Amino acid sequence: VKESGKNEVLFFNTEMQQSLMERIRIENCLREAIENNELSLVFQPQYDAHSHGLRGFETLLRWNSAELGAVSPAKFIPIAEETGIIVNLGEWVLQKAMERFRDVHRTCAVKPILSVNISVVQFMEPSFVPMIQRILEQTGFDARYLEVEVTESVCICSMEQVLTALHQLKAMGIRIALDDFGTGYASLSYLQKLPIDTLKIDKVFIDSIIQERESHLMVGSIISLAHHLGIDVVAEGVETNKQLDYLQSRGCNYIQGFLWGKPLAGSQLEELLSKQPER
Ligand code: C2E
Ligand code: CA
Ligand code: CA
Ligand code: CA
Repeated sequence: VKESGKNEVLFFNTEMQQSLMERIRIENCLREAIENNELSLVFQPQYDAHSHGLRGFETLLRWNSAELGAVSPAKFIPIAEETGIIVNLGEWVLQKAMERFRDVHRTCAVKPILSVNISVVQFMEPSFVPMIQRILEQTGFDARYLEVEVTESVCICSMEQVLTALHQLKAMGIRIALDDFGTGYASLSYLQKLPIDTLKIDKVFIDSIIQERESHLMVGSIISLAHHLGIDVVAEGVETNKQLDYLQSRGCNYIQGFLWGKPLAGSQLEELLSKQPER
């Protein structure tokens, strides 16, 4: 074994150890995050691609840790999922988001849809559907304005269990969105099998619409396939007018992205809504 080889192994181990320790630190802090009032929600608007009318908002979780500072969801959500902390976090998100939007719906003329991300770990809990039911009753939020975003990763679970839960949610009047479409393992056939109302095309495809012919064609085909199945399409991460032009030309229904709106704090919702024409 060469000297440099040894050093590399040593370096690699230190790095692994560091990242393991970081994960443990994040995990420990995350367990206290709700109690310590470190979590908050922001809401990103979704607009009709053609009329620019407001459709609704996606709820996004933010964590400002006293010990670690702001930690991005891309970092802490996977740890929350692996440790099961996501079950409590996810319930907190649903509770707070529905409380906030119950008030918004009471006071504003427009009634935006409230979209909430649901982790597969949360979704597979037997208590998931009853928990949603309970929060709906507790908050008085109208289920017809609630949309749950699940990812293709639910498909790794038993199809029967997934279908049962999704049909229960549908029977309650809740909308189902399939999130991050195209990044997971699911085949197109899931679009037909699952009772989906909305399909969200992932930002990675939207990013490459203009440069790459393949993803350009792919986004166009996904939109027409979804429409054939009676599913609405939301394009995520739309940042440029060129992307918007293309999506409009292909009949994409809704746009979510920094071009038309960054996530807002809950306190900013009324101001944005007061500027919306009534639908
Ligand atoms: P996601 O569900 O795909 O959410 C969309 C992400 O794209 C958000 O990142 C949003 O801020 C970002 N985004 C939207 N438009 C643009 C754009 O035009 N440009 C760019 N650069 N980014 C844009 P965020 O808030 O950092 O969330 C990352 C991921 O963390 C989410 O991806 C979702 O998977 C997860 N996440 C966030 N909140 C929750 C939650 O409450 N529960 C669960 N289970 N997951 C969550
Ligand atoms: Ca989402
Ligand atoms: Ca997404
Ligand atoms: Ca994503």
